[in-house]
Amino acid sequence: MNTLPQSLPGKRLLLTAALAVLALAGLAARPAAAEELAKNLFGAQKLPAVAAPQSIGFYSKGCFAGGVAIPLNGPKWEVMRPSRNRRWGHPTMIALIEKLSRDAAADGWPGLLVGDISQPRGGPMLTGHASHQIGLDADIWLTPMPDRKLSLEQRENMSATLLVDEKTHLVKDALWAPAHTRLLKRAASYAEVERILVNPGIKKKLCDTVKGDRGWLRKVRPFWGHDYHFHIRIGCQPGSPKCKAQENTAPGDGCDQSLAWWFTEEPWRPNKNPDRPKARDLMTMASLPAACQAVLDGPDPASAEAVTYYGDGVPVAAAPVLTKAPSPARASASGAAALPATANAYAETPEIGIPLPRPRPGG
Ligand SMILES: [Zn+2]
Repeated sequence: MNTLPQSLPGKRLLLTAALAVLALAGLAARPAAAEELAKNLFGAQKLPAVAAPQSIGFYSKGCFAGGVAIPLNGPKWEVMRPSRNRRWGHPTMIALIEKLSRDAAADGWPGLLVGDISQPRGGPMLTGHASHQIGLDADIWLTPMPDRKLSLEQRENMSATLLVDEKTHLVKDALWAPAHTRLLKRAASYAEVERILVNPGIKKKLCDTVKGDRGWLRKVRPFWGHDYHFHIRIGCQPGSPKCKAQENTAPGDGCDQSLAWWFTEEPWRPNKNPDRPKARDLMTMASLPAACQAVLDGPDPASAEAVTYYGDGVPVAAAPVLTKAPSPARASASGAAALPATANAYAETPEIGIPLPRPRPGG
């Protein structure tokens, strides 16, 4: 076509058209390139969105509304690294941690050191975890709560104890105690808990030593890291139609070839492409479910204290006072307002204003 004769005006027209295409391409590319990363937007949130509790999306790609905080101190727990402000979760997750702290204490574990749960509105984080985005994941240290209360500074700086040898990937026997097994078994015992992630060395220790009932081992899955803490993951909760369930765990106790693989060289090979950006360095709001924009824009509660969940018979600090006066419909749909003033040992997800529980998919 270049051989076809063209008049000068024709050439000029072509050039104009080409410039227009370039300009359009530039316009299309610019917002994507300049669009702020979701981790910056969610990482800047100080408070949850007041709404009925709802997880949106997947554990590693989503957000949540109606989050509540676990208090920094409980009778049988202390929150670690409090400056990170990751003590937020779906009310069911927070109630479950509080219940675990009591049950574990009854089993002889002095108390829980609570690690990261989620950011106030979930979403990708500036550092650390790929998951923990929808308020249904929590890390609990494998170190028992000391008998002297930790200061805030100690909670920021106390170093964690690695229970697994980095070379052999086996548990350090001098540090492992039957109490660790009891704690993990207790955590796995709750119906809401779908998975517990531990280092492969810890999974192997359980496989080698647990006698009698081994059914709970099915929930305990080997994963990288998780050598000073374990990770509790609960399933999608009622009232979260946009929550994406994970696949069921394979049948059996998992003490099989799938575990043996972790003791080969393959999972520990150096990353061939260490400079490849992580998901959180690419995710914009367009990567997340559309409903996450509404979560980001949702109203703040009056304070963190107003949406802190005391599940131990201690009243929630009155009913949360919203920053904007809600319509009656909004007030009744507010998960925060629906929190029980006092909770029994294990409070179910509040049902006020949210659909009745449905059987969990694949549950
Ligand atoms: Zn974790």
